[in-house]
Amino acid sequence: MTDSMQQTLETLERQGNLRRLPRLTHKGRFVETDGKELLNLSSNDYLGLAADRNLRAEFLESLTPDSFLPSASSSRLLTGNYAISEQLENALATLFGSEAALVFNSGYHANTGLIPAITDSQTLILADKLIHASLIDGIRLSEARSIRYRHNDLNQLERLVARYASEYERILIVTESIFSMDGDEADLPRLVSLRRSYADKVWLYVDEAHAFGVRGKQGLGCAEEKGCTHDIDFLVGTFGKAAASVGAYIVCRKVVRDFLVNRVRPFIFTTALPPVNLMWTHFIVQRLPQMADRREHLSSLATLLRTSLQMQGLSTCSTSHIIPILAGSSTEATRLARQLQRYGFYVLPIRPPTVPEGTSRLRISLTANITQEEMQAFLTLLTDQHSPTKTNCEHL
Ligand SMILES: *Cc1c(COP(=O)(O)O)cnc(C)c1O
Repeated sequence: MTDSMQQTLETLERQGNLRRLPRLTHKGRFVETDGKELLNLSSNDYLGLAADRNLRAEFLESLTPDSFLPSASSSRLLTGNYAISEQLENALATLFGSEAALVFNSGYHANTGLIPAITDSQTLILADKLIHASLIDGIRLSEARSIRYRHNDLNQLERLVARYASEYERILIVTESIFSMDGDEADLPRLVSLRRSYADKVWLYVDEAHAFGVRGKQGLGCAEEKGCTHDIDFLVGTFGKAAASVGAYIVCRKVVRDFLVNRVRPFIFTTALPPVNLMWTHFIVQRLPQMADRREHLSSLATLLRTSLQMQGLSTCSTSHIIPILAGSSTEATRLARQLQRYGFYVLPIRPPTVPEGTSRLRISLTANITQEEMQAFLTLLTDQHSPTKTNCEHL
């Protein structure tokens, strides 16, 4: 039995795709590895809130042994529903101006639980080719048939909807707003208008994992930015990235929330998030609207990096703070990452199966606590180390 496991590991090693858990010590914006401090360019702490010691100190002051509850000790449906669970959901609903919200233990729980719950064998799922693994797993667990459309190809999507509308009771369109690996965006207004033209036949599911906290006037995501939060049937986001916490949410109609409480298995059959986590998330979420300065700084860093890459002849499809630098083979991506690490920047290679074969890349994930000077130093180094031979965007 272990022989075949060993063989698999050896094959992965040969392909340059073997994964190992990195040993790191975290020091705010930096990570220490092998006794060296590197600026973290691979973190999802987009607003720099997880690295902000003052924020933690302020939160800790509000805690007492009575309020510090490290476990919910039960599912929400049994004894794990605390006042703070609903306070957080009410705060989200108020911010989004939605009827209701529901919190999940993680984005992975949310996506793998929601999609099977809201679909059945009479549903057709049309999903973008580049959606996150948690959405793919949700689709796999569903009874619905699914078709993946070419990444952001809404012409193809419209054709598919037109072709299948009469054959199915319902069509669920599944996309991310900002895509994890390419850093580009779905055209939400166009998706919303497609959804509208089919009345209740078509439902729209949007995962804002990388946009929550980062986009929109109040930091609620791309849907807020584009003014279409109310036109998306299932608007989902996570707290593990810009919100510096753990968990996920959906904002939706009240009837949808009541339905989900009865149907989402990773909501029902798991211990709820610890109240202390929910308190921290609530603390952060309430402050998000006031964090426009962090969002603007992040956006200016991203513009600087994208423009410089373009000036070096690397076209980039990224329109966000997630900026891929394509290396091609896994070994080249690994070499480039090591080189940048040697000079003080913690950058990681992203390899198959996370991305398609031959599109291994560095994934630069910018955060608001990086300075303009650090960005400039990184760009200079990148120019020296990377001789681009390819376009920076696998689907161009
Ligand atoms: C990170 C991510 C998730 C998973 O969220 P977790 O809270 O980390 O489980 C889901 N969807 C997308 C698009 C993501 O990038």
